[in-house]
Amino acid sequence: MGTHGRLAGKVALISGAARGMGAAEARRFAAEGASVVLGDVRVDLAREVADEIGADAAAAIALDVRRPESWADAVAMAEDRFGALHVLVNNAGIAGAQKRFTDLTYEEYLETVEIDQHGVFLGMHAAAPAIARAGGGSIVNISSVNGQFGQAFGLPYCAAKFAVRGMTKVAALELGSSGIRVNSIHPGAVDTPMLDADVNGVDPKSMFPYHKLPAGRIGAPEDIANLALFLASDESAYCTGAEFTADGGQTTGIGLPMFRMPTLG
Ligand code: NAD
Repeated sequence: MGTHGRLAGKVALISGAARGMGAAEARRFAAEGASVVLGDVRVDLAREVADEIGADAAAAIALDVRRPESWADAVAMAEDRFGALHVLVNNAGIAGAQKRFTDLTYEEYLETVEIDQHGVFLGMHAAAPAIARAGGGSIVNISSVNGQFGQAFGLPYCAAKFAVRGMTKVAALELGSSGIRVNSIHPGAVDTPMLDADVNGVDPKSMFPYHKLPAGRIGAPEDIANLALFLASDESAYCTGAEFTADGGQTTGIGLPMFRMPTLG
């Protein structure tokens, strides 16, 4: 555990930390003095990131955010290995099935909601008592701009990400007296493996005119990691129950349709 940096002395548990934003958050937090537990279903990849950070400050664990017992193991690892838990980043997520909702099966709907929504509930449920035991801390829930506006072919994802925004506010109200702050991050498009998935036969990275955003580019995982760092640290001591958007200006009002919508029926 580092003695210097913006997260000196803190222990953080990050879900979905094997790649993308979660891996960037793990690296950034450790660089600022935190000890990090990297949880992911892809534990081999998570272990590679942990090895790169170094065993004194990072450990990987198999975590399936849909399973309460898996969360209990991850929280126990933070306390046993590093002595406490101060920060949870609920980052794991999937884009899930990308179809018009009338074409979705219930199973496809549930697959996304179980990971992106129920996983966040289970993470907060498991971690909050441990963070309270540590004297307080911060929970950072990764929602999306799709938790602020709708997106065609993304009903399950939007349902989950809107829910995360709401859960964040309730948890903030209920955990403030225990010294725990809870905030949500709403990224726009960020260049991670999640965007490599084809959307309805379309590659979002090549189709979306990112150069027309106010920021003029797609987001980098580090853009989100920097915001998560602020929310994890004591610098954000007066922020709780709030929404933090990092989208290069996408939600300021530019509306560029990605798809031509066929008529129903
Ligand atoms: P990613 O696909 O690169 O990484 C997601 C990680 O979550 C992977 O390592 C994956 O193995 C893990 N994961 C998936 N299911 C899991 C489960 N059941 N239990 C534990 N881990 C699991 O994606 P990313 O872009 O880094 O996404 C991180 C978060 O940011 C997600 O919640 C995503 O919805 C959100 N987000 C992404 C974008 C974007 O444009 N990339 C935009 C807005 C929000």
